[in-house]
Amino acid sequence: MATTIPCTRCGKRTAYTEADYVALAAKGGPVLPGGVCFPCAWRDPALQPALREYAERKKTETICRARELLVRPLEFIDRFVESLW
Ligand SMILES: [Zn+2]
Repeated sequence: MATTIPCTRCGKRTAYTEADYVALAAKGGPVLPGGVCFPCAWRDPALQPALREYAERKKTETICRARELLVRPLEFIDRFVESLW
């Protein structure tokens, strides 16, 4: 079960712990450091490649959702993550 913690950057959204992100990565999710929410990771030039790479991978895997993913990548990733737990 995932443990949500406040994002250490924005303090507004919930983020996951390091262990949870590792578990996510094992299931094919994006690889992110603990305590950083998706929008903050997306804005960080050092972290964005991980999310972008993940989004590109999902886009090719899930053609029918490609348009949604292009327009709303963060919502897509949020929903994908929720579906994993
Ligand atoms: Zn944040």
